Amino acid sequence: MSKKCTVCLSFDFDAESVQVRQREEPGRVSKGQFAIRRGIPRIFSLLDRFEIKATFFVCGWVAQEYPQITKMIVSKGHEIAAHGYLHENFDTLSISDEREIIEKTTQSLKEFSEKIKGFRAPYFKLSINTLKLLAEADYIYDSSLMADDRPYLLEVPGTTSKIIEFPVEWFLDDWVIFEDKQHTPSDALDIWKTQFDSLSEMGEIPQNQLVFTLTLHPACIGHAYRINVLEQLISHMKDNKVKFSRMGDVAESLLKEWV
Ligand SMILES: [Zn+2]
Repeated sequence: MSKKCTVCLSFDFDAESVQVRQREEPGRVSKGQFAIRRGIPRIFSLLDRFEIKATFFVCGWVAQEYPQITKMIVSKGHEIAAHGYLHENFDTLSISDEREIIEKTTQSLKEFSEKIKGFRAPYFKLSINTLKLLAEADYIYDSSLMADDRPYLLEVPGTTSKIIEFPVEWFLDDWVIFEDKQHTPSDALDIWKTQFDSLSEMGEIPQNQLVFTLTLHPACIGHAYRINVLEQLISHMKDNKVKFSRMGDVAESLLKEWV
């Protein structure tokens, strides 16, 4: 059966934001900084080689701390989307703090890209107010929830706004696979490849509605043996001639169709 789906590779560019917010010791901080020294360069070179445009969810603080890398994300044709300012847990914030953090993050990212269309909650944790605040700030998509295995339309409670949701999953997150579960490279490749093959063989669904979304972290997937797993997965996807897209582009086309 011919394979037909869209692949959205997404990178949560946290660097050492979590460790800085939590005032952790230098060893923990350095684990986040792996993203800067080694992770991001490896990801850029892989994406360049396969001519893939991806989405980077960037913390506002990270964009300010590493403006050269953030500029390169944009100049290479990738999308910048929001991921909190200092990787806050939105679930624990008051509505006014949350609004302030979303505004501050958006402003900080807009120094690099004119329009910020998407948001992913750190830890995949939204509060009950987040979607409403995102709609107020003109965001058109979120990628933090798990109610489907393809994009869906979210009605924003208490408003007439609608937001596209690109669902995530723990088993489609490199941090869970490699750091939490300590899966081997062949297990990781098997899980991701099997999910991709199974989804992309559902030929009755239009290509732009069937989206395989992978959540990756430069400080995690950037390690040598792990980037090799991603390379093998991308090769397999390229062999099957599926389309790679930035999430913002897919969200715009879905909004035109669905709203
Ligand atoms: Zn994150």
